[in-house]
Amino acid sequence: MTPNRVFLSPPHLSGLEEDYVANAFATNWVTPLGPHVDEFEKEFAAAVGAEHAVALSSGTAAIHLALLLAGVGPGDEVLVSTLTFVASVNPIAYLGATPVFIDSDRASWNMDPALLEEALDSRARRGRLPRAVVIVHLYGQSADLDAIVAVCARYGVPLIEDAAEALGATYRGRAPGTVGITGVFSFNGNKIITTGGGGMMVSADRSLVAHARKLATQARDPAPHYEHTEMGYNYRLSNVLAAIGRGQLRVLGERVDARRRNFALYAEALGDLPGVEFMPEAPWGTHTRWLTTLTIDPDEFGANNETVRLALEAEGIEARPVWKPMHLQPLYAHAPVIGGQVANDLFARGLCLPSGSSLTDADRERVVGVVRRTSAHGASRRPVLENRT
Ligand SMILES: *Cc1c(COP(=O)(O)O)cnc(C)c1O
Repeated sequence: MTPNRVFLSPPHLSGLEEDYVANAFATNWVTPLGPHVDEFEKEFAAAVGAEHAVALSSGTAAIHLALLLAGVGPGDEVLVSTLTFVASVNPIAYLGATPVFIDSDRASWNMDPALLEEALDSRARRGRLPRAVVIVHLYGQSADLDAIVAVCARYGVPLIEDAAEALGATYRGRAPGTVGITGVFSFNGNKIITTGGGGMMVSADRSLVAHARKLATQARDPAPHYEHTEMGYNYRLSNVLAAIGRGQLRVLGERVDARRRNFALYAEALGDLPGVEFMPEAPWGTHTRWLTTLTIDPDEFGANNETVRLALEAEGIEARPVWKPMHLQPLYAHAPVIGGQVANDLFARGLCLPSGSSLTDADRERVVGVVRRTSAHGASRRPVLENRT
């Protein structure tokens, strides 16, 4: 019998979603907007400790509106983490602005505050500051917010937080995403909770969120007819999807615990292998371990990350390389980059293991077995996973 395919980060429904969705159907709110959207926004804001929230059709849409509301336009520069998913960056280009990529630090794999300062300082000297900074909280871990906020404040540049991967994480007791001018979350199918596609923007600024809500609803002015003074988008979340989100939100804590447990067990089962290093947990908060990521030194390990990925794939197990840095993407080859060596190295050696909150012990043990066998030293070292629960 062929074992089931093991996915990197599949949706994990709780069963609670169906009641909310049934209610949306029973009340005929099968619409964009509706009571579940309003409730989802309130419950989400409360869950992360944000003042105001607007539910949107995707995290990408949320980043687009956040940049627009920060005043980003043609010819502007926006500083952004290079080690990220392309959705952090494309909205900068939608607006005709130029991304300037900033390298990661080793402590968190997120934007290096010292390099951010260097980039802002050199631009201030030239008398042309970027319009915004976009930081990304990668793989479930907050960037060093205090340091980054301080640098942005010194130069008066607004900070947008891409927390799409970091719902449930903490930074000195606060939720990443609630510290900048705006924070952005995603409910794509692979994220820690999902609506099957959706996003959220949060902010302490009531009028900014109200403006985002208007822009996301075709920018209709208050009038009985259809009146428009500015250009809007169709970016609102549907009531049915918000219903799913409400059910998911109720189990967020359990989802974080399950992902952290995956990480702890992987670290225990693979941590002795030479050349294996797990993504560090920075001292400032809780890493959700949305994805368990590690780097492999091929000389010490006896195989490289791609060999391991292919060995897993041959067993029906989905693993992925670490994000390919944006400054290495053909799409953004023209854009400036500050540093880049850390992100290059993490991409060259990094691997993301199956990390879903529904991952079974048996499936995780399959993953561990393949990784250990692929290592030159692997299986012989110690008996693999006996008596593990
Ligand atoms: C998933 C993701 C996004 C985009 O979210 P969507 O809801 O898929 O549009 C943006 N940034 C990062 C870092 C992501 O991982």
